[in-house]
Amino acid sequence: MKDAPISIAIVGGGPAGLMAAETAAAAGHRVTIYDRMPTLGRKLLMAGRGGLNLTHSEPLDACLARYGRATDWLGPVIRHFPPEAVRAWGDGLGAETFVGSSGRMFPKAMKASPLLRAWLRRLASLGVEMHTRHRWTGFASDVGLLFDTPGGPVEVRADAVILALGGASWPRLGSDGSFAEILARDGIAIAPLRPANMGYAVAWSETFRTRFAGAPLKRIRICHDGTWVRGEAMITACGIEGGAIYALADRLRETASAGAGPTVLIDLRPDLATHELADRLARARAKESLANRLRKAGGLSPVAIGLLRDCAPQLPSADPTALAALIKGVPLELGAPFGLERAISTAGGVPREEVDGHLMLIAALAKSFAFLPVVAKPLGAAGWGDLARSGAYVFAAGVMLALPLIATMLVPSIALGILTRAAPALNIFAVGFPITLTVGFAMLAISLQYLSPNFQRFFMHGMENIDLVLRGLAP
Ligand SMILES: Cc1cc2nc3c(=O)[nH]c(=O)nc-3n(C[C@H](O)[C@H](O)[C@H](O)COP(=O)(O)OP(=O)(O)OC[C@H]3O[C@@H](n4cnc5c(N)ncnc54)[C@H](O)[C@@H]3O)c2cc1C
Repeated sequence: MKDAPISIAIVGGGPAGLMAAETAAAAGHRVTIYDRMPTLGRKLLMAGRGGLNLTHSEPLDACLARYGRATDWLGPVIRHFPPEAVRAWGDGLGAETFVGSSGRMFPKAMKASPLLRAWLRRLASLGVEMHTRHRWTGFASDVGLLFDTPGGPVEVRADAVILALGGASWPRLGSDGSFAEILARDGIAIAPLRPANMGYAVAWSETFRTRFAGAPLKRIRICHDGTWVRGEAMITACGIEGGAIYALADRLRETASAGAGPTVLIDLRPDLATHELADRLARARAKESLANRLRKAGGLSPVAIGLLRDCAPQLPSADPTALAALIKGVPLELGAPFGLERAISTAGGVPREEVDGHLMLIAALAKSFAFLPVVAKPLGAAGWGDLARSGAYVFAAGVMLALPLIATMLVPSIALGILTRAAPALNIFAVGFPITLTVGFAMLAISLQYLSPNFQRFFMHGMENIDLVLRGLAP
C-alpha cells in the first residue's frame, strides 16, 4: 500500500530537486518546488553546453569506486538508482541516450534543453507546482519556510522539506551557497565550500594562448602523483580544464594544499608504446620539418604539437627515442586552481556526519525533541479526546476490513447448517472448514483493492489525531 499523501516543499529546482519532485509526486504526494531563479534547471542547461554526460556505462562496482572515500555511504543510494536506471529514465523522457567511445553516456541531442523540457512537462502532468523567484531565507520559528519573493516575504508550510540547493559554483546560474549561512545559523556544521572538478591556471606563452585557447586535447592520458587518467582536456585562455583534469582533482588539491604547485604529465599518444612511437619518428624522412614529422609520423594534432613546443621549447628533434619519451609525458606546471565561479562542482557543505543514512538532517531530528521534549506535560481533556478519536479510527478501519468477510461467511455457514439438517450422516466438519476458509480468503482478496483508498483516509485521520495528541503534550 502507498504511503498516505503528504505535502512536500522542495527548495531548489536543479536536477536533484526535480528528481526528488518526480519520485515524491509519482508516489502520490503533493509536491511544490521553490527556486530563486526565474526558470528551473539553469546549471543543467549549462552542463549540456559541452555535451551532457549523464552517467557511465561501466559495471556498477567500478562506477562506485569512483566515489573514493564517499563510496561507503553513497553506495547504497546509487545502487538504488544505478546508471542503467538513469539511462532508462533518460530514454523514457525521449532523450535517447548513447554510450560514447569513452564509455560515458550522453543524450543523442548532447545538450540538456530537450531533456529538461520533457522533464518539466512530466512534472506538471504529475501535478507538481513550481514557484520561481522564491529565494529561501531560512526556517520560520516553528516548522515553516521563509522566502523572499518579488511580492515580498512569504511563509510556507509543508509536512516535509527537501533541500536541493546545489553547491556554490557558477553562482550566476542559481546555486550561490547561501544555504551554508542559513543552516549554520540553525547549528548545522558546514564544511567550507571549495571548488571541485575545476581547471587550473597555466602560464601559456602568448603565441600558444592566442592560437589554441578553446581547442580540445582529445584521447590523452594525464598523470599526477603516479595516477594516470584517460580522457580529454580543454585549453583555455588562462589554463586547462576538462574531464581528465577533473578526475585528478582530489590528488591535485592535496598537492596544492601541501604548498607545492602541482605538475602533471600529459601523454599525447596513449595508444602507442614509447618504442613504437620512436620507431615511427625514426622512419620519417629526414628532410621533413619537425612539425611535419610530429603530425604525420607522430600522429599529433596542431594543439598537441603546440603544447609540446610550449612546455619543452628545446625539443630533442634529432633523437627519436627522447622525442617519443617527451610526447608520452609532457610536463605541465599548473598554477592556482580556478575559483568557485568557474568550477564544475563544489566540495564541502553539509558534512556526512550531519545527515543519517536517508540523508535526513540529524539536527532536524534533534530539534523534534525541542518540539516535543522527553518530559512532556500531562494530556488535557482535549488531548484525551484526540487520543480516543485516533483509537476510534483504528477500530473503524478494523471493522471496515472485517465487515465484508463477516457478511460473506454467513452464506456458507447458513448453507452448511441447512446441509446438516438435510443430510445428518454427512461429516460437515471435514468439508465445512476448508470451504469456509476458501470463501473467506477469496472475499479478502476481492475486497482489499476496494478498501485500500478508504484505509488511506482512515490512517490519514488517525495520523492527524496522533499529531494533535503530540502537540497537546508539548509544553
Ligand atoms: C560547465 C559545467 C558542465 C557540467 N557538465 C556536467 C556533465 O556533463 N554531467 C554532469 O552530471 N554534471 C555536469 N555538471 C554539474 C551539474 O551541472 C551539477 O552537478 C548539477 O547541476 C547539480 O544539481 P543540483 O540540483 O544539486 O544543483 P543545481 O543544479 O545547482 O540546482 C540548485 C538549485 O537551487 C536553487 N537555489 C539555490 N539556493 C537557493 C535559495 N536560497 N532559494 C531558492 N533556490 C535556491 C538554484 O537556483 C538552483 O536552481 C556541469 C556543471 C558545469 C558548471
